[in-house]
Amino acid sequence: MSTPSPSVLNAKQIPVTQLTGIGPRTAVLLNKLGITSLQDLLLHLPYRYEDRTRIHSIAELRTGVTAFVCGRVELAEVVVKTKKSLVCRINDDTGFLYLRFFHFSAAQLQALTPGSWLTAYAEVRLGFAGLEMVHPDYKILASRDEITADEALTPVYALTEGLSQHTLRKAIKHALSWLTQRPELLPDCLPTTLIEAYCYPALIEALNALHAPKSVQAPPTADHPARKRLALEELLAHHLALRQVRQYAKTATAPQLTPPVTVLTAFLDHLPFALTRAQQRVIKEIEHDVSSNKPMLRLVQGDVGSGKTVVAAYTALLALGSGYQVALMAPTELLAEQHFRTFTSWLGDSAFPVVLLTGQNKSKHKETLLQTLAKDSPILVVGTHALFQQSVQFSRLGLIIIDEQHRFGVHQRLALREKAQNTGLKPHQLVMTATPIPRTLAMLQYSDLDISIIDELPPGRIPIVTSVIPSERREEVINRIQHWIDQRRQAYWVCTLIEESELLQCQAAENTALLLAQSLPAVRVGLVHGRMKARDKEHVMQAFKQHELDLLVATTVIEVGVDVPNAGLMIIENPERLGLAQLHQLRGRVGRGQSESFCLLLYQMPLSQLARQRLKILRDSHDGFYIAEQDLQLRGPGDVMGTRQTGQMQFKIADLQQDAELFEFISMLSDHLLRDFPELITPICQRWLEHAGLYAEV
Ligand code: ADP
Ligand code: MG
Repeated sequence: MSTPSPSVLNAKQIPVTQLTGIGPRTAVLLNKLGITSLQDLLLHLPYRYEDRTRIHSIAELRTGVTAFVCGRVELAEVVVKTKKSLVCRINDDTGFLYLRFFHFSAAQLQALTPGSWLTAYAEVRLGFAGLEMVHPDYKILASRDEITADEALTPVYALTEGLSQHTLRKAIKHALSWLTQRPELLPDCLPTTLIEAYCYPALIEALNALHAPKSVQAPPTADHPARKRLALEELLAHHLALRQVRQYAKTATAPQLTPPVTVLTAFLDHLPFALTRAQQRVIKEIEHDVSSNKPMLRLVQGDVGSGKTVVAAYTALLALGSGYQVALMAPTELLAEQHFRTFTSWLGDSAFPVVLLTGQNKSKHKETLLQTLAKDSPILVVGTHALFQQSVQFSRLGLIIIDEQHRFGVHQRLALREKAQNTGLKPHQLVMTATPIPRTLAMLQYSDLDISIIDELPPGRIPIVTSVIPSERREEVINRIQHWIDQRRQAYWVCTLIEESELLQCQAAENTALLLAQSLPAVRVGLVHGRMKARDKEHVMQAFKQHELDLLVATTVIEVGVDVPNAGLMIIENPERLGLAQLHQLRGRVGRGQSESFCLLLYQMPLSQLARQRLKILRDSHDGFYIAEQDLQLRGPGDVMGTRQTGQMQFKIADLQQDAELFEFISMLSDHLLRDFPELITPICQRWLEHAGLYAEV
């Protein structure tokens, strides 16, 4: 992919500060939303709309309806009922309505002089003295003649603290008018034939339809062709970029990994168990890949507990036994440390060194380590993203293993492939994920990889009994923990929180740990969360593993990989806040021993119909693939434009749930584009991808 020549500017190259009205302060705020260019601004779509195109008469208002009204102020006063509030009564000659403010200023009260006219917009509810609006969006008018309804719907955008809807609306309006004057800044990248076949609007038309919808009938929803078109283009960009990565990677030469058979048999003989049929099959696929001189690009999908680690260890041995170095990357230090121990014990007899490299390594120790890596000898390095650091240079890297891929971004995965080596050979790559995803999604998300599936659990596993329990029954649940621990078993208590803020999550976990310790004085309670030092976390985990602790309170940091077979009870607080796949992952921490285990989903009332349905799926199934399919099918309500993004693919517009029906077309469409419109590939990828260069280089 080449970068466009600087003379041909496009909207991605124009900083927002070039728009009138956007100063450095606003630019900083916009940056927090990931908006730095004109294009970013244009692609920041509203998530809902307000309709002020019609003025409702007060007489026609009903509770629950969001309405735009106008009226004359009859009175405004501060009242103290249960809470102090400013109440203003307006009248439009068809009836009266109260406006109520719990937060207000003296100036606000002052301005609401009886006799003046205002417009107000909010949801109507039943108050103490009749219908009311709480904290309406209102505007005081100079006179009655000033009352006008809007011509278009009002877009509502995701904001960041300090940025107002007003500022953002103005900025986007500006951006749209720039675009009208200079449409060449954002050329249409989809072929016209395609746009016509799907009845999609042209690009600029689509942006206008979404930011400034003219239609007064119904606001655009997630299914609006304008949004679908953008989502399709974005999905296509990701798919195409990954396909190019694959094409390019396959032209490279990789080391052929064909170690002496004795190395492998010794390993298998040393294992405390026999491999399942599924593990054997996947290992065969891997052996086949790495015995050729083309780099392997393989994803191993397998449900939690299906035994991916041993497959990774076997693959590592293929490289080590052939004289190459191996890098294994895990998403957390906890998991890296656990892998380090497992691999050390499994490979202990093989004479190949296993080392751990995390952000925590002491500098002296690290120095020796880096020197070892620079030498040619085969070695397995287990680590976290610290493996990315510039200072880490492998001299003979033959294999990269990435565990729990869903925790990494695509570009992180690609960056690791970049790791230079002196052999002139590209390393093979094995990617593992416990997040089973439907085939159509896998084709999109991992279009640079071949896929193997471990679809069988090791024998003797007893299914986890899952129950869905309202938080009112918390006491009962706590008693159950006591009873469980009396039987010398261990348990997890997982705290979740809707906020992105890790700090709040950790505080919640700390509080919960304190409360549980108070309610269960005889129980040894431990706590792990993401803000603890790695060493402290490790310490607690070790203590839990050695049964020096009975109950481990944790944030979702324990989602991945942790293995304590005696811990057969897990309570998940507020499970309704997490995705099904993530819940399934968490639940996978229990059910690792030889006796029955339990997972209690302690939900907060009230629970929406959809949330209820989702938890039921988790209760009734243990099949990660089925759960993932269902999660995808249970789309959220269609009236919101976007939902919070989770997972490793960060999209601006596309939504893995709302746009699931597009996946099937994507690979077909990309065939079509690669064949008939190769010149469009680069512009599409550059428009949508943050790290377009990375995709091009590897
Ligand atoms: P995951 O796929 O979730 O990474 P792990 O690799 O951690 O699963 O394996 C889960 C547990 O099952 C580990 O304790 C592992 O030693 C054990 N295990 C893996 N393969 C087998 C097998 N074939 N038979 C019995 N136990 C196995
Ligand atoms: Mg694992």
